[in-house]
Amino acid sequence: MTTTGSTDRIPAALRTEALEQLLTERGLIDPNVMDKFITNYETNVGPLNGATVVAKAWTDPEYRQRLLDDGTAAIKELGFAGSQGEHIVVVENTASIHNVVVCTLCSCYPWPVLGLPPSWYKDPAYRARVVREPRKVLSEMGLELADDVQITVHDSSSEVRWLVLPERPDGTEGLSEDQLVQLVTRDAMVGVAKVQAP
Ligand code: FE
Repeated sequence: MTTTGSTDRIPAALRTEALEQLLTERGLIDPNVMDKFITNYETNVGPLNGATVVAKAWTDPEYRQRLLDDGTAAIKELGFAGSQGEHIVVVENTASIHNVVVCTLCSCYPWPVLGLPPSWYKDPAYRARVVREPRKVLSEMGLELADDVQITVHDSSSEVRWLVLPERPDGTEGLSEDQLVQLVTRDAMVGVAKVQAP
C-alpha cells in the first residue's frame, strides 16, 4: 500500500466504499437505495440490452452475421456502447458447440450489454474452475451438456469482452422479437445457462 498520502493507489473498490460510507453518514444517500440501484443494473438494465441484441440476431439473419463478424459495431447499431464495451466479440452457441465466458484475472465483463457482473462471476472458484473443468462447473450451475457437445471457455480481458449468442430454443418460432427479448437471460449470455422456451 502507498505511504505517500495520495489516494491514487488505493483500490477503486476501497475508495468507493469509503465514499459511500461518508455520504451515508452525512445523510446524503440511503445505502438501501444504493443496493437497489446496483441490483437493478445487475439484473435489469444491462442484461436487457444484451437480450435485445440476441433477439434481433435470432430474427434478422443479416444482423446475426454482422454481430458475429464485428460484435462491437453491430451492438452499437442498436445504441449500446461505452465503457467496458470497446471491443466485444460475440460467439454463437449451437447444438454441438457451447461457449462460456470467464475472466480468470479479475472480472472483465461487457457492461453495455450485460450491466454489472454477478457475484459468482467474480468468485475465485468460478474463475479458476470453469477453465479446468467447465462441464462439471456448468453442471453444478444447473446446465447439463451432453458428452458430445464441445465446450469452449473464453477468457475476457481488458482487450476483449465476450458475449455469448445463445441458441434460440425450439418452440419459439411464433414469438415476436419483443417476446423473445423477455426470454433471454444474463446467464445464457455468459454461457452458464440455456434460454428456455416459455
Ligand atoms: Fe478482468
